[in-house]
Amino acid sequence: MKTGFAEHFIFGLVLAIIGLLVFNGSASFTTSTICVITFITGSILPDVDCPSSTPRKTFRKLLALALGVVAILFLYNHYNNIFPYCSTAFGNSCILFIPLATLLLAFLAYKFIDKTIPSHRGILHSPFSALAFSVICFFISNYSIPVAVSSFLGYLAHLALDFAGDRI
Ligand SMILES: [Zn+2]
Repeated sequence: MKTGFAEHFIFGLVLAIIGLLVFNGSASFTTSTICVITFITGSILPDVDCPSSTPRKTFRKLLALALGVVAILFLYNHYNNIFPYCSTAFGNSCILFIPLATLLLAFLAYKFIDKTIPSHRGILHSPFSALAFSVICFFISNYSIPVAVSSFLGYLAHLALDFAGDRI
């Protein structure tokens, strides 16, 4: 059976709801909400390493957006400092040169990061990455053990579904 975005998302959602019912009331509303979000994120995240997957496409868009914002900030912050040197070197075409160079840099950085993503079902489909994701969630959530555990289990749920899917 092919396990794609929909299967992983629904599987993660169902398990998260079961988890909520089982641990009903044992954590605050905020913690429970963050647990559900990190659990479902963990259950769809590993496929970011698949070139045609939804998480990868979303990641690409977010990355392009982030780099665009960084490029614009860079432009605004440094335009005045760079301009005198640039106009000495390139004359009037400088006004085009800086935005184009910034966009080119953003594009190259985007391509570079995209290329550095490991191959499909490589390192991102391993318990090691589940642990790494859990540690990241632990720090981001201000050292919340429930969040660390739910993100770890959500990630493992993805690996388990891939494993089961391959055998059906
Ligand atoms: Zn997968």
